[in-house]
Amino acid sequence: MDAKKVLIVEDEKSISDIIQFNLKKEGFEVETAYDGEDGLAKALNGKPDLILLDVMLPGLDGFEICKKVREVSAVPILMLTAKEEEVDKVLGLELGADDYITKPFGMRELVARIKANIRRIDLNDSDKEEPANVHEFGNLSIDMNRYEIRKNGQPLALTLREFELLQYLAEKENKVFSREQLLSDVWGYDYFGDIRTVDVTVRRLREKLEDDSSDPKYIMTKRGIGYYFRRP
Ligand code: CA
Repeated sequence: MDAKKVLIVEDEKSISDIIQFNLKKEGFEVETAYDGEDGLAKALNGKPDLILLDVMLPGLDGFEICKKVREVSAVPILMLTAKEEEVDKVLGLELGADDYITKPFGMRELVARIKANIRRIDLNDSDKEEPANVHEFGNLSIDMNRYEIRKNGQPLALTLREFELLQYLAEKENKVFSREQLLSDVWGYDYFGDIRTVDVTVRRLREKLEDDSSDPKYIMTKRGIGYYFRRP
């Protein structure tokens, strides 16, 4: 299996160096950028398997980079944020970041998050495909193994989190889940987000899946409780 490539966009060289050292030790290929423009160029052209993106950068900031990358790619984006920037987490998720890690962080935690976000998805390599496991729901077809979704035959670009949330709900049609339950089961034990994360991700999913995201036919709100998936 090819080494996974992580792009580190971080202007503090001492932080970038120690991350790079640890990722190489874990067998990752690493590319680095120290300012926003270079980070964006390498994110768009370097075909990384995951982007570690600092928020505060000279030139373009991490949010602007995230937004621009998301216009063309579903590559996992893990944002690095200082504690005082925590209030900006929701903004980052709106723009399509998959996960956050707050500075200062331990290297074991960082490596674990990177591995979790890359998972078995390999955006650049189709050699190792799982067999298809396609479920049809109205005009959606969801391949649960290959992480592919089509609407009226056209592929949709979902981020890993968006796909996993959809998959989780669709596998248990009509069952209502609370936001807390979704946060814990889809985002995982070590995710420190709040429940607005779930709402933001549902909104992004609806914008991609639904004909009219204000009148959803697939991902339904159970007022005061949470969300469920319905076959239209
Ligand atoms: Ca910085």
